[in-house]
Parts: sequence; structure tokens; C-alpha cells
Amino acid sequence: MTTYDVIIIGGAVMGSSTAYFLSSNSDFNGKILVIEKDPTYAQSSTCLSAGGIRQQFSNIENIQLSQFGASFIKNINSYLQVDEPVSVDFRENGYLFLATENGMSVLMKNHETQLSVGANVQILDQAQLKERFNWLNVDDIVAGSFGFKDSGWFDPHCLTMALKNKAKNLKVTYLKDQVVGIQRTNNKIVSVKLSSGDVINGGIFINATGAKASHTADMAGIKDLPVNSRKRFVFLFKCMTLLPNCPLVVDPSGAYFRPEGLNYICGKSPDKANDPDCEDFFMDYSVFEEELWPVLAQRVPAFDAIKRISSWAGHYAYNVSDQNAIIGRHPSVNNFIFANGFSGHGLQQGPGVGRAVSELVTYGHYKTLDLSCFAFERFAANKLYKELNVV
Ligand SMILES: Cc1cc2nc3c(=O)[nH]c(=O)nc-3n(C[C@H](O)[C@H](O)[C@H](O)COP(=O)(O)OP(=O)(O)OC[C@H]3O[C@@H](n4cnc5c(N)ncnc54)[C@H](O)[C@@H]3O)c2cc1C
Repeated sequence: MTTYDVIIIGGAVMGSSTAYFLSSNSDFNGKILVIEKDPTYAQSSTCLSAGGIRQQFSNIENIQLSQFGASFIKNINSYLQVDEPVSVDFRENGYLFLATENGMSVLMKNHETQLSVGANVQILDQAQLKERFNWLNVDDIVAGSFGFKDSGWFDPHCLTMALKNKAKNLKVTYLKDQVVGIQRTNNKIVSVKLSSGDVINGGIFINATGAKASHTADMAGIKDLPVNSRKRFVFLFKCMTLLPNCPLVVDPSGAYFRPEGLNYICGKSPDKANDPDCEDFFMDYSVFEEELWPVLAQRVPAFDAIKRISSWAGHYAYNVSDQNAIIGRHPSVNNFIFANGFSGHGLQQGPGVGRAVSELVTYGHYKTLDLSCFAFERFAANKLYKELNVV
């Protein structure tokens, strides 16, 4: 029977980043296997994401993870180049969170937190917003938080492929198969069973299965991972008017939009009451027609005349307890490590989380960023760590 020191279940951004950071660390000498059921990543959150990166979070660790994410993608070739240079097409157009009077106290509190760790953010008042983005209707807006550097969007598929390519170059094995069972002896995971019928033994097992994370934890007999699959729509639309210097804009309603080539994409998380657990990919076009378009046209008068040209649905791995990541060893089954529950901001955290998980595996503790606030133990201890800026 084959044995690996580390088995990573799921090979999208989290799985491949962990594989890359482990395999590139000279202090780690083990054999690594990544098991991915669909190497096209067609239904992964990673490849269906909006590709955004920002530093406007309420938790310091989330800001720091994104700061590292920005530095990683800006210097990507020093990490990931194998033969040809890598590009993830980073558009550093910025990120703009708008606030009405109601949202100002949260915006300012978050801003102070962000400045305390050196985030590249500034507050623009109504007049400054109008001057900088003259296509924006700011009549009801008091101010905005503008991420002016290290913020914008990039290509999620290119990042994943580059991580994977480099990991393979560093002797990580990728296997196309699905984990359908996890065998445990007392408090230790010993092997995974695959849909092909194969059984593979391992030393440490990492759950990087995105919106399927709870299914995977269930297989290991861990029933209480608070990560549910929640559907999110993204709509691509055409607008004949150019919006100069358009960043990713988050409206006070929660709707967001940004340029995508010559077009735009937009989306919005549903209200809590209308956000069931969901694993299908069916589209509801009324979300665009009835919920998004009116808000967008109100915010940008030029969006009165737009045409929807495409759309897709993907899933957030939504942490229903505090909308934050769950990272680290299970407290009793401690050869099982979580890298789960990233809701709508996991792509940008991919490099930082992969590095952190690789440190846990190699050294038994974090060395660069202390991410112990994301430990699974917080749920039992009822010490939730809420992220307020989930888009
Ligand atoms: C519409 C949308 C917009 C988003 N926008 C942003 C954004 O702007 N910025 C941002 O930072 N984040 C964004 N996100 C969130 C981000 O995409 C995710 O947090 C991140 O990609 C999670 O990566 P992952 O590797 O954990 O999960 P995934 O990308 O879902 O990967 C999990 C992988 O595990 C595999 N897998 C699952 N079960 C098994 C099994 N049993 N055996 C083998 N393989 C298995 C799957 O095939 C999949 O490839 C968005 C997400 C969505 C859905």
C-alpha cells in the first residue's frame, strides 16, 4: 500500500498553495500527495471567484493574510517560475467600500484597525469621491474606504495553475481521484479511500475541500465543522460608457461591481433569510434584474444602459458561526488539519494560508503569521472571531 507523509485533499488554491509551501521548505523532507477529483477545477470556488484582493477587513489577521497575498502575487516569479514567467494579470485598480451615515462608525473603526497594521487604505469624503470617480453617484454617501495599493483583482485560475505547476516541479504528486472514505484508528487518521477503490496511507491529512469541507470532515468522524455551501451568482455585463480608473466598488447595499476587460462583473450576497445551504449551480436571473441592476444604476448613472452577457454560480465555503477561516489541527484528531471556511475572501488568502499550514506541518507551530485565532477550538470555547467585512 502507498504511504505519504502528507495527504492534501483538494488541489485548488488552498491545497496547491499548501503543497507548494511545504515542498519548497528545505526543513520539510516528506512525501506529499494532493488528491483532486476534478483537475479542471470547473466547480471549485477558486475558479468561480471574482478574483478580488483587498485589505479592508475588520480582523488584523485577515488584513495581514491579504498583505502577504498581494506581495506574493506581485513577486510571483520569485516563488513560482518554472520555465516561462508566470502572470496572474494583477489589476491594481483598488477597492472602494462606500458608506452612508449608517455605515460610518464601522467603516472608521475598521479603517483604524487597517492603518494599525500598515494597510494601504485612505478615507475619501464625498467631495473627494466625486472628484476621483466622477461617474459615481455619491448623493447619499458620506465617505468611502479606498484601498489604493495592493488591492484590485487577478486571475484565480492562473494562480492555482502556477502553484500546482511549481509544486509538481518540486516533486509533489497530484492524483485525479475523489476521497470517498477516511479511516481512523482512535484519534488518528490512517488512510483515505478513493472512488477508484485505492486506499492510501498517510501521516498528516489536510482538508482543503472548499465548500465540501464538512463532507470531508464527516468522513473523518468530525461532525461539527460549521462550514456550509452557499450559492453566489456573478453576472457579466456590458456598458458602452467607460468608467475611468474604476476600482472594485462595494455599495452600502452589499452589491459589488468591477471592470472585467471591456465589460463589468457584479454580484451580491443574499440576505441571511434567503441564503439556504445549496450545492446546485442553477442560475436565478431575477437576482440581476430585480436586485442588482436597480442598485447599480442608482450608484452609477451610466449603468442605466447595460446588457447582461453572461453569468455563473459558485459556492462560498461559508462559516456559519463567524464567517472566518478555520485553520489548524483538530484538537483531538490532531493529524487532521483544517484549511476551511473562507467564505468570500479565500482566494487572496491562498498564499498566506498555504504558508501557515505548511509551518504547522513542518514545525508544529506558526512561524510567520500567528493564525491561532482561527483554530477550531474557538467554537467549543464559544470564543467566536467575527469578520465584519464579508462581501
Ligand atoms: C462567486 C464567488 C466569488 C468570490 N470572490 C472572491 C474574491 O473576490 N476574492 C477572494 O479572495 N475570494 C473570493 N471567493 C472565495 C474564494 O474563491 C474561496 O474562498 C477560495 O477559492 C477557496 O479555495 P479552496 O481551495 O479552499 O476551495 P475550492 O476552490 O472550492 O477547492 C476545493 C477543491 O477540493 C476538491 N474536492 C472537494 N472534495 C473532494 C474530495 N472528496 N476528493 C478530492 N477532491 C475534492 C474540489 O474539486 C475543489 O477543486 C469567491 C467565491 C465565490 C464562489
